[in-house]
Amino acid sequence: MKIAVEGCAHGELDKIYDCIETLQEREGFKIDLLICCGDFQSVRNAADLRAMAVPEKYQRMCTFYKYYSGEKKAPVLTLFIGGNHEASNYLQELPYGGWVAPNIYYMGRAGVVKFGELRIGGLSGIFKGHDYLQGLWECLPYNQNSMRSVYHIRSLDVFRLSQLKEKLHVMLTHDWPRGITDYGDKDHLLRRKPFLREDIESNQLGSMPAEKLLHTLKPDYWFAAHLHCQFAALVKHEDNRETKFLALDKCLPKRRHLQILDLPHEYDGDKCLKHDAEWLVVLKNTNHLLNVKNMEGHLPGPGGNERYNFTPTNEEKEILIQSLQNLAITSENFVKTAPAYKPGAPKAYLTDPILNPQTVDLCEKLGIDDPVQVIMARAGRVMEKPTDVDIVETKADLNPVLKTPMSKLILPAPVTPSENDCEENTCTTPISENPLLLDSLCNTSECTTPTSISGKKTFKRRNISIYSSTEEESQSMNSSSLVSPTSPSKYPRGNIE
Ligand SMILES: [Zn+2]
Ligand SMILES: [Zn+2]
Repeated sequence: MKIAVEGCAHGELDKIYDCIETLQEREGFKIDLLICCGDFQSVRNAADLRAMAVPEKYQRMCTFYKYYSGEKKAPVLTLFIGGNHEASNYLQELPYGGWVAPNIYYMGRAGVVKFGELRIGGLSGIFKGHDYLQGLWECLPYNQNSMRSVYHIRSLDVFRLSQLKEKLHVMLTHDWPRGITDYGDKDHLLRRKPFLREDIESNQLGSMPAEKLLHTLKPDYWFAAHLHCQFAALVKHEDNRETKFLALDKCLPKRRHLQILDLPHEYDGDKCLKHDAEWLVVLKNTNHLLNVKNMEGHLPGPGGNERYNFTPTNEEKEILIQSLQNLAITSENFVKTAPAYKPGAPKAYLTDPILNPQTVDLCEKLGIDDPVQVIMARAGRVMEKPTDVDIVETKADLNPVLKTPMSKLILPAPVTPSENDCEENTCTTPISENPLLLDSLCNTSECTTPTSISGKKTFKRRNISIYSSTEEESQSMNSSSLVSPTSPSKYPRGNIE
């Protein structure tokens, strides 16, 4: 099994797929899976661009919309986590993961999937201490605060991942685990990125929850992006297990942004994407811990009288597998919930939160809640069902400001210190031409993008107490190592520069 791992994608799907195809031709092999470590920018249209935390002058449509509209088809199954430059409105439709385009799968705020026999975990967003314990309160329309805090990692997602006991082969985060620089060539990194010194020396660089997960999950591989530079490390755990860490750059010419992993055949399996039983049971068993309030909440732990261990038993996993019957995640479930960008069409187009049938389906099957739906219900608002996007698009073309923003959900805004990520500005560097561009792309015409959506699914209210819009319900809610022929310090082959 050959896997390509990309650092930040920043919407440059055409270029990334070009790189992959160039590599396949040059090396004579086939890549089975592409993994992107965030800043994916699944921007479908102008409304999505406006939901992305990027200064307006740097808002570029890039190329994802072509894969969404069906104009092109992703030539390789693509899996991604979210970063801090995302069409957050779109990703919020799929909190537990789902297809954002045919053959392109988002792993959700946190998630675990299997590809063949390879088990892959992911945590989207970046860590900011001031939002970590907050509920998941963000909802369209975003203001300048919520547009940023929406992608900040929340403790519930980390709590859920920390319940996993089955072996995880690959873990993905956008920002780096804190302390990871101690396990690699720090001096070399500092020569290339001297401005990181202060953060590294004060142990401020990277994500504290990712550090915790690194030492509890002990995956074979850990991939990250965000700082736009390549960095490899080898973490030796106390029980002699090892994690090979690799951070990759963003998709730019002469930058180390793509890495090929060659895994033994034992991981091949059916080479299909599947849900992970242990993860789904964790989601199900921790649904009552969902907090959608703009206030801090604490999760259960030792010493309290609440259950805090949610690692599923074999019996629970068996029951889930039997009830779902099929864990396969097939691209046929993809549905368009908003119109795709058309060059030359009017830009202004606002959207309300839209029910994504993929989320409705998973929530119904597991008996869990869609956070946005809970927020909306608490505010007495109803989520829109996706309508026929082609009709919507026509209307939008005729009348650029089709919808006015809905009445604002009144929530106390959190005090958000200015984001001082070193990458915030570098992400907006104009992208120059990639010398590896091929003239012809391997685009296929067999793309089968559904054009209409039935909208038959209805939402069932669960966990009814948390739908109350009153503020009284305070406390109740919160409450073999993979054989790699190379050591991580020298991943020599496959780096496209
Ligand atoms: Zn980035
Ligand atoms: Zn980033």
